[in-house]
Amino acid sequence: WFDVSPPWLERVLARKPRALLRAVDGVSFTLQRGETLALVGESGCGKSTMARLLVGLYGLTRGEVLIDGQPVSRLNEPGGRALRRRLQMIFQDPYASQNPRWRVERIIAEPLLTHTRMDAAQRRARVDELLRQVGLDPSDRSRYPHQFSGGQRQRISIARALAAHPELLVCDEPTSALDVSVQAQVLNLMKDLQRQLGLTYLFISHNLAVVHHVADRVGVMYLGRLVELAPRDAVFGQPRHPYTRMLLSAIPDLRGTGKSRTPVAGEVPNPLNPPTGCTFHPRCPHARELCRVEAPKALPAGEAVVACHGVELGWETLQGPA
Ligand code: SF4
Ligand code: MG
Repeated sequence: WFDVSPPWLERVLARKPRALLRAVDGVSFTLQRGETLALVGESGCGKSTMARLLVGLYGLTRGEVLIDGQPVSRLNEPGGRALRRRLQMIFQDPYASQNPRWRVERIIAEPLLTHTRMDAAQRRARVDELLRQVGLDPSDRSRYPHQFSGGQRQRISIARALAAHPELLVCDEPTSALDVSVQAQVLNLMKDLQRQLGLTYLFISHNLAVVHHVADRVGVMYLGRLVELAPRDAVFGQPRHPYTRMLLSAIPDLRGTGKSRTPVAGEVPNPLNPPTGCTFHPRCPHARELCRVEAPKALPAGEAVVACHGVELGWETLQGPA
C-alpha cells in the first residue's frame, strides 16, 4: 500500500550550506495498512529526514515514495491535495508546531479548511468531536496553546493531524519532549486511536522502550541507511545487525532480567564525510577488511532484512543482544 521502493534516495539535498548530504540512502520498505513501523537510531541517523521525505516536505533527488502507487512528489503539485490529506505528520515539539496566537479551535480546524468544504458549524462540530477523541473537553476549543500542559498540547497536535481523516500518520519523536508518565498516556491514546480509526503509523524514535511499546515492526537506521528491518519481537529478541545489538545493549533490559547496561561505543560519524564501505565499520566490533571497502547489501536473514557482511557471510553469528 505504502511503498518506499528501491532504488531510491541516492542523495538528498539537506538544508546545509554548500553541502550535499546523503542523509537517507538506499532505504527501502513497504508499510502495511494498519501497522506501526518504528524507525530507530541515534540522532543524526536520518530518521527525521526520512519522515519529512515521506510527507513531501523535502524533495527526493532520486528514487520514489509511493502511496497506493502514486508518487509522493505529487503532493506539492496541483492535484496533490487529495494525496496530502491521507498523510499527516506529528512533530516532537508541540510548542513549535502550534501558532501561539491561535485558539485551539483554529489550530485543529486548519486542515478542514484545506481539505474539506465544511462550513463553520460543521467545523465546530468536528473540532468538538476531535477534542473528545483525544481526551480533551470541547470547552477547551477557545483556549490558547500556552494554557495547556505539554501532554495536552500533544493531544491537540494529534487532533489536528486527525481532522481530515488521514490514513497514515508520520510521528517524529511524538512523546520525547514529555515526562515519562505523560509519554505513556499519549502513546496509549495513539494506540487506541489506531485501533478505532484503522490508522497506519510510521513512528520515529531514538527511545527503544517507546518503540518496544508501540511497534509492530522496527527499522534500525544508521547514517541514513536502514541496516535492519524486522518484526518487533525479532529485533528485540534476536537482533542481527551489530548496530542493533549495540543499541539494545545500551538500554536497561526491557524484559527485566536484570542484565546491566553497556554504553553505546563511539559516536555517529559526520554524515557529510561518511566512512567508506559499511559506514558502521569504525564502531563495529566485528569489522573486517571487506567492511572497509564494500557497502553491505540488505538481504533476508530469518524474519529480518539485514545489511551486514558478517551476517551474510556467517562470521557474525552471535545470537541475542551483545
Ligand atoms: Fe560490522 Fe562489517 Fe557488518 Fe558493518 S558489515 S556491521 S562493519 S560486520
Ligand atoms: Mg530527529
